[in-house]
Amino acid sequence: MTILINLLSLLKKLSFLPLKRYVIGFGILLLLWVGYVAIPLNDPIFDRDYSHVILDKNNDLLRVYLNQKEQRIFPPEIQHQIPQRLIDSILMFEDRYFFNHPGVNPVSIWNAWRRNLTEGRIVSGGSTITMQVARLSHPKSRTYLNKLLELFQSFKIESLYTKDEILSLYITHAPFGGNIQGFYAASLLYFSKPPLDLTWGEAATLAVLPNAPRQVSPIRNRDILIKKRNFLLNKLRDTSVMTQDEYEAAIKEPVASKVTPFPFFAPHFSDFVRKKYSSDFVHYTSLDKPIQMSVNAIVKRASRSLATKGIHNLSVLVADTQSGDVLAYVGSQDYFDRHHSGAVDGVQAWRSSGSTLKPFLYALAIDEGIALPDTKLLDIPTTINGFTPANASQSFYGVVSMKQALIESLNVPATRVLNTIGVDRFYLFLKSAGATTLFRDAEAYGLPLILGGSETTIWDLTSFYRGLGNNGLFSSLSVIKNKEDDTLPKQLLSPGASYLTLNILKELVRPGTEYFWDIYSNQWPLAWKTGTSYGQRDAWAVGVSPQYTIAVWVGNFSGAGNSNLSGARSAGPILFDVFNYLPKFLYKRWFSEPDSHMKLLSTCSDTGLLAGAYCHQKESRWAPLSMNAMAVCFYHQRLHLDQSGTHQVCSKCWTFGDVKTDSRLIYPPQVRKVLAENGAILPQIPGHNPAHKGYHFDSVMSWIYPKANSKIWIPRGVKGTYQRVACKLAHISPQSIVFWYVNDRFAGQTQTYHELPLFFQQGLNELVAIDEEGRRIRQTITVAIKK
Ligand SMILES: [Zn+2]
Ligand SMILES: [Zn+2]
Repeated sequence: MTILINLLSLLKKLSFLPLKRYVIGFGILLLLWVGYVAIPLNDPIFDRDYSHVILDKNNDLLRVYLNQKEQRIFPPEIQHQIPQRLIDSILMFEDRYFFNHPGVNPVSIWNAWRRNLTEGRIVSGGSTITMQVARLSHPKSRTYLNKLLELFQSFKIESLYTKDEILSLYITHAPFGGNIQGFYAASLLYFSKPPLDLTWGEAATLAVLPNAPRQVSPIRNRDILIKKRNFLLNKLRDTSVMTQDEYEAAIKEPVASKVTPFPFFAPHFSDFVRKKYSSDFVHYTSLDKPIQMSVNAIVKRASRSLATKGIHNLSVLVADTQSGDVLAYVGSQDYFDRHHSGAVDGVQAWRSSGSTLKPFLYALAIDEGIALPDTKLLDIPTTINGFTPANASQSFYGVVSMKQALIESLNVPATRVLNTIGVDRFYLFLKSAGATTLFRDAEAYGLPLILGGSETTIWDLTSFYRGLGNNGLFSSLSVIKNKEDDTLPKQLLSPGASYLTLNILKELVRPGTEYFWDIYSNQWPLAWKTGTSYGQRDAWAVGVSPQYTIAVWVGNFSGAGNSNLSGARSAGPILFDVFNYLPKFLYKRWFSEPDSHMKLLSTCSDTGLLAGAYCHQKESRWAPLSMNAMAVCFYHQRLHLDQSGTHQVCSKCWTFGDVKTDSRLIYPPQVRKVLAENGAILPQIPGHNPAHKGYHFDSVMSWIYPKANSKIWIPRGVKGTYQRVACKLAHISPQSIVFWYVNDRFAGQTQTYHELPLFFQQGLNELVAIDEEGRRIRQTITVAIKK
């Protein structure tokens, strides 16, 4: 049925034939019918083989790839608007009666036939534009048989497509010299302008090219090209398609003489996008070309000075903190730097994470109720499961606030906090945040995970820090403009913990500012963190502001270490060069405090833990509303002393009325030792009444289960979770309240029945119990979790 309708419409197109030749017309129609059934025609007529086109957020060209036939041809969705001048020129030159014939022009075929007979070879095809579409879509050798086939295909094309569609198919696929196909690429490459801006002279130049693209082009036989163009301009004027004035202006126009290559911006980014979205030809990306160019320039400048120190590669990624859109993507110092593998995409390369993951551990520690920014963490010689972390300074503070530990990137407190949180928990966080590089399981990484024991990428780090700057909402970065994200962002950190962590990272001293603090005092705040990997192979600097998230990596793709490499010195200045350049809005100067997600906690001024009955001074500090219960300060302890205050006494040795109480800040012995070594003058802790023979804490509190230094096996349940262990102790006066701690973390309190189910980690665990009087017993147990 459709065939019949199509044939009827074809008959209409044939109506220009004089009536008296209707017999011929009928004959043609019959032939057509045979052709219709027998002639193959692809749908779509042209294979979908086009150049991948990468556009920036303002639709500026970043890069145009060759198609599979190594041609430069824009996909139809870009070539949809053909300027009228070009249509007029092409019709005039190629097929003046295009809108009047049925796909074949018998007159021109007859003329061509006669001419070829006289010449003894094929010099003219008498082809219509429709026949050329048939030929271009499936090029064959120029024989009479193929000509006949094309003729039938032309009828079929005419019956299936409108004249405008056929014309458009031709102009968007015609050869314009070299490997240039289609008018759009030709306009950009010969005239460096979009087609709608073409002048009459330029349109005419393009129009004569498809006729003999191999012999004549702006760079080959240009004199013939000029003659052909002028011939066409004359014809356009003679037929009044253009005015005399237009003609005079056009004929004076110079004819194109060169090919301007396509732009080549953000090559690594373009490769990444093309590979990721390989089924699309046109990529409307999020990249901001002006920002990309400026970051490129900063990278180029920095790479020159780094090269003199034997450091040859650097990569930078800039994303919009709010939307997650990638704005600038510099994969290496120079895509064409063959000596130093410039084509490698450093944004996606796996490198040791150094200290760059620490902020996320501390943010988690806040949410878990382990510490707030001012909470003191232990910084003492530590060995856990055979792993002994060291600070870069090779020294210890004894105790240090979490804030200071993060600012100075101390390794010991970070390792201890990771041990408290659990490697599994932190590993799960990183996986949920989208880490692409964790190919081992959590156990295989162990505690070194927080000190650069795992790989990461610039891409992943940018995504993580953006999550921190986005109220703890984590989602993947986007390279496509206005892309609807198919996955919901995940709330992996609370807004409060994110905000508190960002405030700490703001305090990091900027490179060079120690001496010029007054010059920099008005600068824009930035939360940032550096990292230097083991063996000085990688230098990182990552920063996040309400507007931008920026990650910088400096090093050698070869993996060679360099003693000049450091996150603060090598990558930091580049981070600030980029950040200082980026356009900013005053109203987005700093993150707004998530008031509704915060609460005030009364904390101990000395230890930063929850204020207890014996703490000397209390301070209100902000904490996330959803934070887990925090430990009550257990370093301030109540002491029962004799009247002189020189000895502690207990209920077994005191004389009624002769006891006074006092509260003291008493850190564990290992901490006191480090503090003393650092020159701190510590108040003496009064010893127990010497008159009380055989005094021992254990006589007050003692472990029932597990016993000290025991080893226990726990079966792992479904979903990787494992069971709690019911721990039990005895207290001489059961009514006392006992506070329990596992690995520095408050685990709960008991009264009367001192039994508590507790979670332990694989490996060594420290179990501490402290009663109301501040008496403390501790033990270590080794836990093996059965697979
Ligand atoms: Zn306290
Ligand atoms: Zn006593």
